[in-house]
Amino acid sequence: MQSAPTPPPAPAPSRRALLTGLGLAAAAPLALGVTARTTPLGQPADQPDQSAQAGRTVLLRGASLVLTMDPAVGSGPLGAIENADVLMQNGTIAAVGTALQAPRGAWVVDASGKLALPGFVDTHTHLWQAVIRGGCTDRDLFGWFQGCTDPQRGRLTPAALHSFVRLAALDAVQSGVTTLVDWVDIFSYDLVESYVRALAATGVRFTYAMFPPKPDAVLVKKVKKELVDPVPLGSFQVATHAARAVQDLNRAHWEAAQDMGVMLNSHVLERPEQRADDPIGVLTDIGALGPRLLINHAIHLTDDEIAAVAAHDVRAAHCPLSNMRLASGIMRLSEFRRRGVKFGLGLDGGTNDSSDFHALMKTAIGLQRARTTDAGVFPQVDDVLRMATLGGAEALGIADRVGSLTPGKRADLVVIDPAALNFAPRFDWVGQIVFNGRPENIDAVFVDGRALKLGGRLVEVDTDRVVREAEAAATRLRATA
Ligand SMILES: [Zn+2]
Repeated sequence: MQSAPTPPPAPAPSRRALLTGLGLAAAAPLALGVTARTTPLGQPADQPDQSAQAGRTVLLRGASLVLTMDPAVGSGPLGAIENADVLMQNGTIAAVGTALQAPRGAWVVDASGKLALPGFVDTHTHLWQAVIRGGCTDRDLFGWFQGCTDPQRGRLTPAALHSFVRLAALDAVQSGVTTLVDWVDIFSYDLVESYVRALAATGVRFTYAMFPPKPDAVLVKKVKKELVDPVPLGSFQVATHAARAVQDLNRAHWEAAQDMGVMLNSHVLERPEQRADDPIGVLTDIGALGPRLLINHAIHLTDDEIAAVAAHDVRAAHCPLSNMRLASGIMRLSEFRRRGVKFGLGLDGGTNDSSDFHALMKTAIGLQRARTTDAGVFPQVDDVLRMATLGGAEALGIADRVGSLTPGKRADLVVIDPAALNFAPRFDWVGQIVFNGRPENIDAVFVDGRALKLGGRLVEVDTDRVVREAEAAATRLRATA
């Protein structure tokens, strides 16, 4: 078992029972001190209980480099500040600067030698596909559907689904993802309930994008109202898969999204063969082109289609690891950027094989360079860091709340420890975050001001148990094949 960074005192039985049911290791409620105490990041002195952390004041003290992503807060395009503090209060960024005063009762976390930046925003994923990690490695998208996703989806039980989603969501959090959008083609209410419960228990900020198999506005509204809306960090989108053959279904999905005031989220032109589906034409015809439309992959668009997407302020998710793995093609990022389209990065579930935003950023750069043989092509390191954080938040329409360490925004941030064999010594830390960084260099993760990872380990999570339960569920699923 992965042990907690500090020995957790025994909690009350009822609390233990609740946490155990969620697959979380129990920890003592945090005793809120009246004076500031300092915790070295690598060796946390206490492991704050999730509920006790709510409303807590945390001062991240003396990070060697803070990339705020807000040029108005720091210097340069990434808003950089050396030797800076970040104050989090009531789940928001209260202040960023040097030598901040620790408020009375604050929990002071020593971040000297570390780097801090906004948490990664994953604009497109399918967490449940953790069940088929490493599968169908010689297939393209259609072969992968047929050989991997379709057979597994039909056999999922609520308990099995919960274990896979929890595994993948925790993997995302430990790699620095603080916001994720999950496009989910899981249909029955009990499965959806299990899915949302697993997401909510991790503490990550999430959007559940529900793909209803038929125009069932009642079920969609019920899921939003009963399952997603009660989760403080949960939000909702309607998912679809735009194609002429299902245009009426696409229209019903768009109408449901409009009715609820949420985004429509569609896969678009991931494969060249999907030109026959004319998805951009369909989305145009049903009136969905606009800032409340998020298109994923968006690889095989014509110049006119990119122009139409840009003219209507449609948002896009770029998934380079998945596109590379499935031989799908390379999104024309320069063209999207030249026309001012807002886009972020997406891990895209099982086809990226694990959550690694550093690999995702590096691949986003590398694919464009390999395609053009031009090392100066967009995106550069600054661009891709922005895409991974504020750019993703802009694409999702939530940049007023997350994506940069701007005072007043929600406190979603990651702390990186560069003192590692794969990262040190300092040459250009911004470049090293993208080209050298790995999930294990993520030392701490805060979402809404709550520590989900500290000292390189997930807080209050028995990872051995999470892995064991996912393994057992996968074994049972295979037995039913
Ligand atoms: Zn996808």
